[in-house]
Amino acid sequence: MNPWLPVGGLVAVLLAAPLALSEFQIVLLNYIGLASIVALGLVLLTGIAGLMSFGQAAFVGVAAYTSAVLTTQYNMSPWLTLPVALVLTGTLALAIGAITLRLSGHYLPLGTIAWGIAIFYLFGNLEILGKYSGVAGIPSINLFGLELGGARELYYLIWLMTIGASIAVRNLLDSRSGRAIRALKNRVTMAESFGIDTARMKIVIFLYAALLAALSGWLYAHFLRYVSPQPFNLNSGIDYLFMAVIGGSGAVWGAVLGASILTLLKEWLKDLLPYLMPQSGNYETVVFGFMVVLFLHRTREGVIPYLTRLMPRKDKPRPSLEVAALPRRAQPEAGGTLLSIDQASKSFGALQAVSNVSFEMRSDEILAVIGPNGAGKSTLFNLVSGVLPVSSGRISFLDQRIDRMTGREAARLGIVRTFQHVNLMKNMSVLENVALGAHLRSSSGVVASSLRLERAEEARIMAEAARQLDRIGLGDRLHDPAGTLPLGAQRLIEIARALAADPVLLLLDEPAAGLRHLEKKALAALLNDLRKSGVSILLVEHDMEFVMGLVDRVIVLNFGQKIAEGTPREVQSNPAVIDAYLGGIE
Ligand code: ADP
Ligand code: MG
Repeated sequence: MNPWLPVGGLVAVLLAAPLALSEFQIVLLNYIGLASIVALGLVLLTGIAGLMSFGQAAFVGVAAYTSAVLTTQYNMSPWLTLPVALVLTGTLALAIGAITLRLSGHYLPLGTIAWGIAIFYLFGNLEILGKYSGVAGIPSINLFGLELGGARELYYLIWLMTIGASIAVRNLLDSRSGRAIRALKNRVTMAESFGIDTARMKIVIFLYAALLAALSGWLYAHFLRYVSPQPFNLNSGIDYLFMAVIGGSGAVWGAVLGASILTLLKEWLKDLLPYLMPQSGNYETVVFGFMVVLFLHRTREGVIPYLTRLMPRKDKPRPSLEVAALPRRAQPEAGGTLLSIDQASKSFGALQAVSNVSFEMRSDEILAVIGPNGAGKSTLFNLVSGVLPVSSGRISFLDQRIDRMTGREAARLGIVRTFQHVNLMKNMSVLENVALGAHLRSSSGVVASSLRLERAEEARIMAEAARQLDRIGLGDRLHDPAGTLPLGAQRLIEIARALAADPVLLLLDEPAAGLRHLEKKALAALLNDLRKSGVSILLVEHDMEFVMGLVDRVIVLNFGQKIAEGTPREVQSNPAVIDAYLGGIE
């Protein structure tokens, strides 16, 4: 089936709908469109990035009131108030975001509830906003001389914007920025170690979601022609969140679906309940709450995954390799000092995980750090890659102090790592996971991605990712979700992702764990090739045999201290090492 067929069908249905439907039904459809735009922002913010906001209704209100006041009291045209409403809401979102997005865990949703309520009361108490009676007499939107006065006329504009916003968000998710956004949920350390500024990215999508809410609020004001505080209260904020969750908060079309389900369900309950309940009252809210909880109990992922399972799966093509390669960095001169660790220590409370470790590493070397479990190898890696700061001591990389650097700064210098506990985005394809590695070699941002203006660069990123996957022998699994591959293959994906970053120093934390004999041999050959191409490799490994044939020198750690250093042969016959290993691992 042509993938455009359902889309074309949907557009045709939407175009024809006003001809067949009653005024009331069109009003409902308009409400669904307006809510979808807000829910789209929440799909991005909550569904994808894991940041929960109950306050979106307040942003809708800020834009609606802005346009209401400016058109009624200052006679501005709605098309002029739109940019003003967007800028005002955006500025407010930046200010609120700068404060609340720092909150972690449950404090973030609580924070959004707090400012959501505060803004609601502001609407009700400001003289200029008409207090609780609101602002009436808002003019309709005039489009090229066409007065969009009724629901029927405004319907097309609302749905044009709904579909436009859906496409923009969908484009965004399928891009360099989109991969960074998806890493915000649970993968912050990994994202930072590939140069992604996660704090900035959170603010950017918070702003993005607020601007979508503002667009909806502007449309709302000129649709209803009257605004009052009520529709922008916390209840509405919760409804928007439900819409995103019910539809399927990981998918763009989930927003439209969720908005439809919720709006229609509420309407239906409002009609039905008076027949079932003896007394009047807002029972629909209660019944509704129960239905939502029941629903979430049954399906965590929302409705969209059920629908996609029904759709035929289409095979995605391999990315073309016939595009210009991404920029590469200059590798340092071979043989010079690359990394210098001087009396580095790291303690966790009373535990000295790394204590006074010193060694140097030349560029174009392969160096192994070995030692029993808990010896401090991974902690040492965390110090070099900027994941943790040192407690004391110095670490220099090409004559630059790096012991106080963040992971992001280290990545910019070309220090790239893999993780001992595989740190992939399991639902994302193998190709996309590796593409994230090339983040710092590309530059397109959120706006270009939403408008699909970055396709040339995206093609280069994808080609690079495919090339690295070919290199590690996973070129035939590009489009599989990374989590479906065996653990050994996932480790290889981590290496491919690191290679996509064009490293100067590659840090591999137990790369051969979980690999079979032949795979280990292939990995050793790959690491040798890499070294020949100028990449320096520092690796942690348990497998002595793997290390012995491969590396130039070995550093042995035990209880956080360096107990030996030398060629594999020297170290192997060192009594202290034999002792540590006999006492440590079998
Ligand atoms: P290795 O990689 O050599 O097996 P690690 O560097 O992971 O060892 O751990 C060294 C020691 O530091 C262990 O005792 C471990 O429990 C402890 N450790 C590691 N990371 C942390 C942390 N973030 N907080 C507290 N203790 C830690
Ligand atoms: Mg470890």
